[in-house]
Amino acid sequence: MRAAVIQEHGEPLEIEDVSYPEPAPDQVVVETEACGVCRSDWHAWQGDWSWIGAGVPEGQILGHEPAGIISEVGEDVETLEAGDRVAVPFHLGDGTCPHCREGRANNCETVLPLGLSEYSQGAFAEAFAVREADFNCVKLPEEVDFTEMAGLGCRFMTAYHALADRADLRPGDWVAVHGCGGVGLSAIHIAQALGAHPIAVDVLDSKLERAEELGAIETVNGADVDSAPQEIKKLTGGGADVSIDALGIAETCQNSVNSLGTRGSHVQVGLTTGEEQGQIDLPVDVMTMQEIDFHGSFGMPLVRYEELFRLIAKGTLEPGKIIGETLSLDELPGTLASMDDYETVGIPVVTEF
Ligand SMILES: [Zn+2]
Ligand SMILES: [Zn+2]
Repeated sequence: MRAAVIQEHGEPLEIEDVSYPEPAPDQVVVETEACGVCRSDWHAWQGDWSWIGAGVPEGQILGHEPAGIISEVGEDVETLEAGDRVAVPFHLGDGTCPHCREGRANNCETVLPLGLSEYSQGAFAEAFAVREADFNCVKLPEEVDFTEMAGLGCRFMTAYHALADRADLRPGDWVAVHGCGGVGLSAIHIAQALGAHPIAVDVLDSKLERAEELGAIETVNGADVDSAPQEIKKLTGGGADVSIDALGIAETCQNSVNSLGTRGSHVQVGLTTGEEQGQIDLPVDVMTMQEIDFHGSFGMPLVRYEELFRLIAKGTLEPGKIIGETLSLDELPGTLASMDDYETVGIPVVTEF
């Protein structure tokens, strides 16, 4: 089958013929119908995250935001069968640790990120295997479209958990979103759908325009103002209630914290780059005196999908709105390389394999 493979970090992915996955007893094989292209793919391709033990080796097949149809079922799998339509959250849990037993695969002690580990080849391929499939696969409602669901395994659900659970967003809250890539745009859409007032921050007008279409009440182009945090404090009359770093560089993280008012909540969604290697200076005294919270947020507990699907069925949330261009596997290497300059708008989705 065809797959996009890392030959060398930072060099264009190569489309190769690789063997079709064989399911282990706990696994299913899913034929990929759609798979989003994420900033995390770009990081892994660059060779980032070795500082948290999460770098991928050369030979890796990336792709961790898939939706597709089950083609093969391992002998121990009980709840899934060939033909089932599924989305697969990127954080594949073992299903047995204390966190998984609470439905929190995103906090699994032995989490295996799909497409981001040599033991878990990803979905930029005609098919891919899913470990502990009964536990990890999320069955899709009949009516939803695969392309629209591609972000549900990563960006969209990550933004939902960050806002609804970690920040405990309330209607009427001011929400500053720093970085309007896929997860940032998802956060804008979700914030407005939940009755909050999103402010979009980016340095590219094309992304800010998309953010406005998705419901941003205000936009701040960080390249046009002296200080994005000061601008947000002006717009909100004192500071945002919730602020998200949806990119993961020192500047957006610090800007996010500095955008908050007293008792505000910062949510860190982006993992950092080779520049920061996870280390960022923060104004700890101000955070202490103003009782500002710093939350980490990673993926979404599987138990939260039910609510997410309910909101999608009601039409409150429309994940399809965040989709950017659709592309073929052959176009993927070029699209990934174009993310060097942060100019892709919305989530690119591979739909032809
Ligand atoms: Zn992702
Ligand atoms: Zn676990």
